[in-house]
Amino acid sequence: MKAHTKETQATMTPEKSLQYLKEGNLRFQNNLKANRNLLEQVNDTREGQFPFATILSCIDSRVSAELVFDQGLGDIFSARIAGNFVNEDILGSMEFACKLAGTKLIVVLGHTSCGAVKGACDNAELGNLTAMLGKIKTQL
Ligand SMILES: [Zn+2]
Repeated sequence: MKAHTKETQATMTPEKSLQYLKEGNLRFQNNLKANRNLLEQVNDTREGQFPFATILSCIDSRVSAELVFDQGLGDIFSARIAGNFVNEDILGSMEFACKLAGTKLIVVLGHTSCGAVKGACDNAELGNLTAMLGKIKTQL
């Protein structure tokens, strides 16, 4: 599987992008992987990137968007923050991804047993975590 190009990105729609992610997740669920050469994709994306989707997910070590959707280099923008909530910086990143870099779909990927959401619900307090959990509470 080759890295996306400006031409292949231009053929993507939100529906087709979602379908690509669903197919990738099905491969993941069946412990299959698309046949791709990551080193070749490094080379293919050397001059630019043309991802088709933007995914906001938690930093949880069990929920890597690239892995659970079986995507390669240059396929998706992956924004990660504990609790997968949006703030000004994440929104700015998503605006870049959609308006300037041309992705067609935004996915907000939550997950079960999220420690950040649990911490927000339990009013956990620890250093800078306290303020971050406060931001999650405003979005619950
Ligand atoms: Zn989480």
